[in-house]
Amino acid sequence: MLNKICRFIKKEKISLKYIINTHNHFDHINGNKFLKKKTPAQVISYNSGLRDGDYVEIGNIKLKIIETPGHTADGVSLFVDKNLFTGDTLFVGDSGATVSKDSDRTKLGESLRKLITVCPRETIIWSGHDLGDKKVSTLEYEQKNNINSEEYKLKTVHYKF
Ligand SMILES: [Zn+2]
Repeated sequence: MLNKICRFIKKEKISLKYIINTHNHFDHINGNKFLKKKTPAQVISYNSGLRDGDYVEIGNIKLKIIETPGHTADGVSLFVDKNLFTGDTLFVGDSGATVSKDSDRTKLGESLRKLITVCPRETIIWSGHDLGDKKVSTLEYEQKNNINSEEYKLKTVHYKF
């Protein structure tokens, strides 16, 4: 996968500015060192200081940081132009497990409700793993069909950044 990413970066003549980690699990960060060696990119995450409402600017693109703890304590999701990168907070049809030392199921529920509140319903979600029956989904679809929609009582709650 990393070689594939590097080939893409080279082919498209991309100058990689950031490697953004959605959380600290090994399967999400184990390419950091490799990519840092191959590119000038900086690794950023909750642990490097990203917080709710921060923006990461890349050219004309502004990624909004949304803290989404629960799967891990340091979880963040990234929102840009009605696209939401959810890491392991929200999958198509499910959500991330809460089996790590720093997991918290109550906070995961709060994070899911927060995403539904702060992002438009039609937001397309891009998860950290392809576990569902399709690659992408929308918040609106997940609010109705996600396995956790009843458990988390996904409803509108007002959050402020
Ligand atoms: Zn994870």
